[in-house]
Amino acid sequence: MNENVIQSIVEEVVSQFSKQPPAEKGIPLAVSARHCHLSRRDLEALFGSGYELTPIKALSQPGQFAAQETVMIAGPRGGIENVRVLGPARNLTQVEVSKTDSIKLGLQPPLRKSGDIKGSSPVTIIGPKGSIYLQEGLIIAQAHVHMSPADAAAFHVSDGEYVRITVESGRALSFENVLIRVSPDYRLEMHLDTDEANAGFIATGATGKLIKYAGLA
Ligand SMILES: [Zn+2]
Repeated sequence: MNENVIQSIVEEVVSQFSKQPPAEKGIPLAVSARHCHLSRRDLEALFGSGYELTPIKALSQPGQFAAQETVMIAGPRGGIENVRVLGPARNLTQVEVSKTDSIKLGLQPPLRKSGDIKGSSPVTIIGPKGSIYLQEGLIIAQAHVHMSPADAAAFHVSDGEYVRITVESGRALSFENVLIRVSPDYRLEMHLDTDEANAGFIATGATGKLIKYAGLA
C-alpha cells in the first residue's frame, strides 16, 4: 500500500470517528403512557360545548400539558379507562397506546410517528358527555428523540434521520430506527412507550446513548 492510500484511509477513519456524537452526552429518556390528543370538536363532543381542558402538569416539551381530564377508549375486545388527555387541543384527534393495550382493545394500530394517522386504526372514545367513533386515529407511537437544532449539530444528526439508542441500565437494550425530530421548540428527550420501557426496566430519568448508523447520512 502506498503512503497516499494509507493517509486517505487514516483520514476517512478519523472523520468517521469525529462524526460520532460526544459519547459523554446522554439522551434523557421519558416514558409515555397511553394518552390522547383531542381536536376542539371532539373535545366538545366528549365533554360538552365550550369545554376547556384543565392543565395539571406541564410536559417537558414547551406548551404541552397533561390535563386533569381522562377518557375511556374501547375496541371490540374491551375498554381501557382513565386515559389521560394531553393539551392543548390539536387539529386531529389521536390516541397513542402500547401494543399490550391494543391487544386488550382487540385492535391493530400501526407503528407511526405522532401526527401520521392516515389509515390508522379505528377506536371509540367515551367521555362524560358523549362518545365518538373515530374511523382512524389510534396508533402505537414510534420511539423518537426530540432535540433543538443546537443539539442536532452536537450529535451530527438531522431532522428525519434514524439512529440507534442504547440503554445500559436495567436490562440492556438497543432501540433501532429511532426517529430524530428537530425543532427550536424541542428539549432533548427520547420518548418511548410503556412496552419499550418495561422491556428494558427503564424509568423516566434514565439515559440512553445515541449511535449513528455507520456509512449513512
Ligand atoms: Zn414525543
